Formats: sequence, structure tokens, C-alpha cells
Amino acid sequence: MLPEQLELPWFDPKAARTPSIPAARRIYVNRDLRLARCDWIGFDMDYTLAIYRQSAMDRLSVRATVDKLVARGYPDWLRTLEFPLDFPIRGLHIDKLLGNVLKMDRFKAVKKGYHGRRELTRNELRALYDEKKLRHKSPRYHWIDTLYALSEVAVYVATIEAYEARGQHPRFGKLWSDIRECIDEAHRDGTILHAIAADFSSFIVRDPELPVALHKLRSAGKRLFVLTNSRWPYTEKLLSYLLSDGPVGYASFHDYFDAIVVAAKKPAFFQETAPLLERLADGTTKRAALPLERGKVYEGGNLHELQAALGPGHRVLYVGDHIYGDILRSKKDTTWRTALVLQELEDEIAAHDRGRDDAAVLLEVQQRHAELEDALRHLQLRAFDLAAAIGKGDASARARDDLTRMKSLLGSVRRQLRNLDRDARSLRRQVDQRFHPYWGSLLKEGGELSLFGAQVDEYACVYTSRVSNLLPYSPHQHFRSPHNQMHHEL
Ligand SMILES: [Mg+2]
Repeated sequence: MLPEQLELPWFDPKAARTPSIPAARRIYVNRDLRLARCDWIGFDMDYTLAIYRQSAMDRLSVRATVDKLVARGYPDWLRTLEFPLDFPIRGLHIDKLLGNVLKMDRFKAVKKGYHGRRELTRNELRALYDEKKLRHKSPRYHWIDTLYALSEVAVYVATIEAYEARGQHPRFGKLWSDIRECIDEAHRDGTILHAIAADFSSFIVRDPELPVALHKLRSAGKRLFVLTNSRWPYTEKLLSYLLSDGPVGYASFHDYFDAIVVAAKKPAFFQETAPLLERLADGTTKRAALPLERGKVYEGGNLHELQAALGPGHRVLYVGDHIYGDILRSKKDTTWRTALVLQELEDEIAAHDRGRDDAAVLLEVQQRHAELEDALRHLQLRAFDLAAAIGKGDASARARDDLTRMKSLLGSVRRQLRNLDRDARSLRRQVDQRFHPYWGSLLKEGGELSLFGAQVDEYACVYTSRVSNLLPYSPHQHFRSPHNQMHHEL
């Protein structure tokens, strides 16, 4: 029995509970999260507070990588290649031994694979990856888990294709590590950061709702901090671009935050013991003194020191985009709650909506397939028993007729099953195409969670496409997860 309801004629609690937020801008909940219990909210900067324009970033990264590869002695024709920026997604694995790119499901089974942009057949995948449990964390494989890394995949597949078209066979592992070193060098030596900082509007989406969302959290008494791996000169320019002259009217981006920690070296930040430093106006640093002060800039540090600095009663929500460096590591090493910013989510939801009808037909086909398969097994058992009885010589003439009929029925069921298999494959391909021409959905694979989707599910308390999606929610919101039922409870 429900307790007696309080009647408030002017207030419809159902309407208040379901704010009409478009699906693409909602916050999705894996584990209950009460914002009222978060005193501190921390943010990563790149791809979290700052939304990057992916194709502009990819073009810049590809150019920088190719220049450096050619400088290292790779052939000049590399510059003339077309790099397929529409090929990679997050959550792929590079097989450095064979030069393949793979997508796995949550059980670490390889479900899709390409060599260059040639799709590996099911038989090839089976022969290469089905023999034993795939050790996806071994040095043979590289996990593409950030949006920064997409350009590396585009360079890798185009270069392999070009070499093989010339009848040459590159060393796949060496090529991958050279690409990795070149892009890292381009980040380290400023090739990439200088280009972005010189023209923020080409590379960064300036979200006008971001300052308003941060201000709303501050107004509700939350204290905000930035914890980024970027160094101060770039952080200062980028935060200033994102937050200065905003609609809120703060004098400086410093006014939004109670602490700014740069060059944090996540994920090592969560496990190691680098000292927390204060950065002085002349660019030098000294050991930081607690408590942390607004307006000052801190560098490096480690989880324990930051926790101590956040003060007693700290209850932290950390918002980041990197499933490993921001979310998985903080989840494993801290009691921080986590929010994952998944820039791709808006496209993923749109594709999901477009594919709804096909997905419903696919489900029907799969159900029909399951029914027929059960019928097939049943018929096979009966045919087996009948054949055994006939073999022993104790079956009637009618039993022999039954067996003949049953065999022809079995043939027809098998034919129907093959047709349904073909229909299911083509429907699944149709559904996949709506998400991505090569890989299908980012978060799902063949009706299961993809490996990436499984990590989002396991490690992010909540996930959403951008930080400003917090704006329509109360700063004290209780985000409730749809409680999972186990199969025996259904
Ligand atoms: Mg980031």
C-alpha cells in the first residue's frame, strides 16, 4: 500500500519529475548520484570544459604527424595520401602485430575488424582471434580511448593501404609506434597547441551555456575546481576563451573556480606522490601551502594532497572525458563520484532514433529465429529417437513415414533459418550504417555493449554529452539509475 498522497492542487509532481530536456542533452545515470551531497565539483579541461571540433583537430593532427614521419625518413608520398577521418571511432583496438583495427564487445570477443579499410570477413576474424581468449591488455594491442587518438588510426590505415598498394609490407608495430611518437612530439613541442591557441574559434566550440551552468552550481554553494593535464600557458588561454566575457559577468575565469591544478599527469596523479606546487607569477614554482587559495594556480600534485586540500567533509564529483585517465582511475583509486563527458553521445542518440524501426524489425526476426531454432532442436531429437527405433527393427511402417516427413520438415526449417540469418545480417548492417559506416554504434555491438560501452557502464556514475547539460537540472538533483534486474527477477 502506498502512503496517502499529499494533495497539492497547484503542483503536478509528475510534470516536475520529468523536465522536458531533449534526449541529446540529458544526463544519463548508471549509479544513483545526489548532487546535494557533492560539495566539490572538479572538471578536466580538454574535451570536457572545452568541446573540440573533431574534424578540425583531426586534420591538424594528421598534418603534424605526417610532417614528422617524413622528417624521420618516411617517403614523401605520404603527404599526398587521403586520410580517412571518417574511419576511426573511440574504443577500437589496434593489433600492432598484424596491422588490423578491431572492435570488441563486452566479452572481449572481436566482432568487427579491418585491415586498411578492407573489412575482415567473419572467417578471417574467427581464424585470427577466436582461438583463445584475447589478451587485449597485452603490448600487442593498443586501446584507442581518447578523441585525440582518432587521427592516429586514420594515418595508420591510410599508410598501410598505400604501402600494400605499392607491393610493400610495412612493419605494422614499428609504423604504429612511429605514428604515436610523432603525434606525442607534435603535442610536446607545441606544433599542435600553438596552432589551436592561434585560432581557437576554428578548433573549439564556445558553449554560451557553460559559464551559466558553472555559475548556477556556484550559486548553490558548490565549490568548483579544474584538474587538467594541460600546462598553464595553454590552460590560461583556453579557460579565458571559454569563460571570459561570458553572459555571467565574472571579471575573470578565476572567479568560477576555488582551485586550479594544471600539469596534473593523470592517471599517475591518482596513484603516485608528486608534490603539489604553487605556480608563481614569474613561471617558477614552490611547494604549495594549504589551504588552497582562489586565484592561485597549482601544478602537479597527487590525489592525497588534493583531497587534504579540499578540506574536511569534501565530497567530490569529478567530470572528465577520458574513460581511463579521468574516470576509471579515479573510480578505482578514490571515492570520488564520476561524470563522463561523451561528446559523441548526441550523434549516437540521433542514430539510435533513426534506426528504431529497423531495430524493431530486427528484434522480430531474432525472435522468430529463436523459435524456429528451438523447433529444429526438438524435431531433431524426435527424428533421432525414431531412427534409433527403426534401426532396432521395432518400428512400424507409419514410423518410417513419420521419419521421412520429419526429414523433409527439418530441411525446410533449416532453409527458413538460413533466410532469417541473412535477413538479420542485412538488418543489423542497416542499423549499424545509421551509426557509423565502418563500426556501427560506439556503445553497442551486435546487441551487446561494446567494450567501450561496458566501460562507460561500469565506471561512469553518470554520462552526458557536454558539461552545460547540467544547466536544466537542479544543483541538488538526485540522479536515479533505472535499477537493474537480474535475469531470474524478470
Ligand atoms: Mg580531457
